[in-house]
Amino acid sequence: MADVLTYVLHYEGEFNKNSLGAVSEGAARAAEVGGECHAVVVGGDDLTDDLCKTLGQYGAKKVYRAKGPEGLAQPVVDVMAKVIDDGGHNYALFGGGLLGFEIGAGLAARKQAGVTMEVTAVRAEDGKLVAERPILQDSKISVSHYRGDLGIIIGRINAFELRKDGGGDAEVVDVDVEYSPWSNQAKMVNRGEQRGADVDIEGADILVAGGRGLGKAEGFELAESLAKAFGGNTAVAATRAVVDAGWYPYAAQIGQTGKTVSPKLYLAAGISGAIQHKVGMQSSENIVAINKDANAPIFEFSDLGIVGDLNKIIPKLTEAIKAKKGS
Ligand SMILES: Cc1cc2nc3c(=O)[nH]c(=O)nc-3n(C[C@H](O)[C@H](O)[C@H](O)COP(=O)(O)OP(=O)(O)OC[C@H]3O[C@@H](n4cnc5c(N)ncnc54)[C@H](O)[C@@H]3O)c2cc1C
Repeated sequence: MADVLTYVLHYEGEFNKNSLGAVSEGAARAAEVGGECHAVVVGGDDLTDDLCKTLGQYGAKKVYRAKGPEGLAQPVVDVMAKVIDDGGHNYALFGGGLLGFEIGAGLAARKQAGVTMEVTAVRAEDGKLVAERPILQDSKISVSHYRGDLGIIIGRINAFELRKDGGGDAEVVDVDVEYSPWSNQAKMVNRGEQRGADVDIEGADILVAGGRGLGKAEGFELAESLAKAFGGNTAVAATRAVVDAGWYPYAAQIGQTGKTVSPKLYLAAGISGAIQHKVGMQSSENIVAINKDANAPIFEFSDLGIVGDLNKIIPKLTEAIKAKKGS
């Protein structure tokens, strides 16, 4: 029997989807090794009994609730370490994302546990869980087996599918934790929704895709105003280079390790056209690329190529579309 512990991030009365995916995955895999999935939540009075119980719908049997600052890594490490010490959990599983990486790494150090990051699949083998992680440019799979009492599994963002399995209410257990002195050193200054986090690039008719050529995160404002000018079912997408740099959310990534899209119009702004990006968008009906490098590979598979500086071209294009639409 092996129990799995997950952490669920919470913001303004809602649980984070990536965390809920980890609960679903933890529940499915724990069941395969005769165990249960439990969740840790940390926060204030807004973590009500009713809200915490809903984690049962995703497969959590117990929810350990601690009072503390929400969204910071070190306090969560303290809570998870205590719950594991008391409960004897064998695995801690996270849905990826920066916070999951930080908590998982902190917990691994605290508990001297083995940790695998960027996991894309977890499976049961001989009554234990093993984690699969793509390596060597995703050409091979490395399989991690855990030797100690605790194994830490950190998924790639959105690797674990969120499933509502219709389970009943989770049992809510309050935990008292004495936070480490260093856990109180960081303060949450501000929280907000990640721009474009819920974007649906797979269903869009028009995609304005931004790459490193946009220069910085703020460069995406150009892509967003162009998308707004198009109107209708238009969304902004991105390359892996920019989502890895934190310029845009992973949900918007096109390509081999992102999403596959086939919109009516795909417009690339500052994208070189690497093979890993191409495989995700090559079946678009019409491909338009703006790139200052006439030799950029993207022009080899574009229907229309515009060689020039996107900082000059996109504002003009945006104005032209607005003028044409009379908006
Ligand atoms: C295993 C593996 C998986 C990967 N999976 C993916 C994936 O799923 N999706 C993905 O996208 N990538 C993926 N990559 C990364 C991929 O190889 C490329 O590194 C990435 O797509 C490059 O992103 P980019 O085009 O934004 O950046 P770059 O390659 O740096 O291109 C930037 C482009 O912008 C142009 N530019 C610069 N300034 C301007 C300007 N002012 N005006 C106009 N043009 C300008 C440049 O000429 C250049 O062509 C993967 C890589 C590996 C190894």
